[in-house]
Amino acid sequence: TYVVTDNCIACKYTDCVEVCPVDCFYEGENTLVIHPDECIDCGVCEPECPADAIRPDTEPDMEAWVAFNRKYAELW
Ligand code: SF4
Repeated sequence: TYVVTDNCIACKYTDCVEVCPVDCFYEGENTLVIHPDECIDCGVCEPECPADAIRPDTEPDMEAWVAFNRKYAELW
C-alpha cells in the first residue's frame, strides 16, 4: 500500500485524488490519507504529489504512517 506522510500537512493540492483509480483517498485532520485496505498499490499517485508526501509502505519505518492513514480513513 501507499501512504500519505507529513509533507502533506496543509497541502492544498489534490492531484493524487484525481488520478487514483479506486478512490481510496480520504480527508484527514491536516492531511489527506489513503485507506490501506483499499489501495491497490498501483503507484500512479506518487509522482503526482508536488509535496513528495506519498510513499510506499515498503520503505523503512512506515508502520506509524500506515496506522495514521488507517485511523483517519476508517472514520469515513
Ligand atoms: Fe490510489 Fe494507486 Fe495511489 Fe493506491 S497507489 S492510493 S490505488 S493511486
